[in-house]
Amino acid sequence: MFGMRNGERDTAYSSDPVRAVVTGGSLGGLASAIALREAGCEVEVFERSQGELLGRGAGIVAQPELLRFLEEHGISTRDEISVPSNMRQYLAPDGGVARAEDSHQYMTSWGAVYQKLRAAFPEERYHQGSNLVGLKQDESGVIACFKDGREEECDLLVGADGTHSTCRRLLLPEVTPEYAGYVAWRGLVKESDLEPALARVFAEKFTFFLERNTQILCYLIPGPSGELGKGERWLNWVWYWNVPEGDELREVLTDTEGATHDDSVPQGRVREPLIQRQEIIAGEVLPDVFRCLFAQTAEPFIQVIQDLSVQRMAFVQVCLAGDAAFVPRPHTAASTSKATTNAAALAESLRRHGNDVAAALKFWEPAQLRLGRQLEEYGKSLGDSSQFGP
Ligand SMILES: Cc1cc2nc3c(=O)[nH]c(=O)nc-3n(C[C@H](O)[C@H](O)[C@H](O)COP(=O)(O)OP(=O)(O)OC[C@H]3O[C@@H](n4cnc5c(N)ncnc54)[C@H](O)[C@@H]3O)c2cc1C
Repeated sequence: MFGMRNGERDTAYSSDPVRAVVTGGSLGGLASAIALREAGCEVEVFERSQGELLGRGAGIVAQPELLRFLEEHGISTRDEISVPSNMRQYLAPDGGVARAEDSHQYMTSWGAVYQKLRAAFPEERYHQGSNLVGLKQDESGVIACFKDGREEECDLLVGADGTHSTCRRLLLPEVTPEYAGYVAWRGLVKESDLEPALARVFAEKFTFFLERNTQILCYLIPGPSGELGKGERWLNWVWYWNVPEGDELREVLTDTEGATHDDSVPQGRVREPLIQRQEIIAGEVLPDVFRCLFAQTAEPFIQVIQDLSVQRMAFVQVCLAGDAAFVPRPHTAASTSKATTNAAALAESLRRHGNDVAAALKFWEPAQLRLGRQLEEYGKSLGDSSQFGP
């Protein structure tokens, strides 16, 4: 670790490597750390969670930017990390195919990407159980302060600490996530556990059912340890469902132990009566194949859909990246590629500006803000028209 410095270093003219601290060790933080390291920085990652981060999210559409990042940094090839989907199909209420079109996409999972990124970053520089609680910044650098009393001085601090970013709260306390009016029920079923007829309907296709005020989609992803073999893959589904804010949302977010969550109720913690109620709704509004999929899911989980955007991402020697800056709606399927774009562009800007971190961040910020805003708008238009449209 870097430890404390005496504050004499002028990063703009020093040939010493830039010392970077990344807070948040999920996909956005790891991508930033890897890209910065490759650009010659000395990087340490500080992640709040103590234990394994596995089990977050589930399916991710592997957009070209994500795949390019993984390939260019020698982390993974497309074929090692994804399941191809060769067609988009839209089902009719009776389960027949209303429309189908050729569409080649690659589907991966949060776990598969996380495992590859973790393996590509030195273990001794990834510090778990490190909760950022404060930061101090002056012309000599930045100090990141952690809950356990540790302080890390650096030239660049990347806040990649997600939707409820502490880094953002310290810099932009007025910015908070806003509930979008609906949640995502989600689930995973092992391919070999699916009834064969059901498996055939969904195999290697991106399947949608769009109905007034709701939509459900599903696609195959790698298994929990990255398995890509037939039968070992998992079918990932996402069902967007409107829930009014207030008592109803609180009820949905209250888990088996009576705890109320802000963002998600994890696998195994969604209350049985709620699952049973949603299964009845599935029977009423979804084609039978999707109702069966819901019924075959052992532990569905729930994620709240939120909007979050910032007006600034760069603060002299501190920046916000990934979900800490913008959380576009998941219909865009682009948050992870946005995080890798933030990371790659930051590293490129530092290369271009030598060790002048402030100049590099100033150059980096406008395009990243533009990207975030575009995805924000696009996600809202997709989500609002499908959930609340005429
Ligand atoms: C329903 C749904 C579907 C989605 N589908 C897709 C998809 O298809 N494609 C896609 O690209 N993306 C998708 N996403 C989004 C994707 O999961 C994230 O955008 C992506 O993981 C990047 O997040 P991140 O690393 O910036 O933040 P996060 O993954 O939230 O990570 C933030 C990290 O910071 C840590 N942390 C928090 N506070 C502190 C602190 N004070 N100190 C230290 N560490 C801290 C947290 O523990 C966490 O590990 C979806 C999201 C949802 C909700």
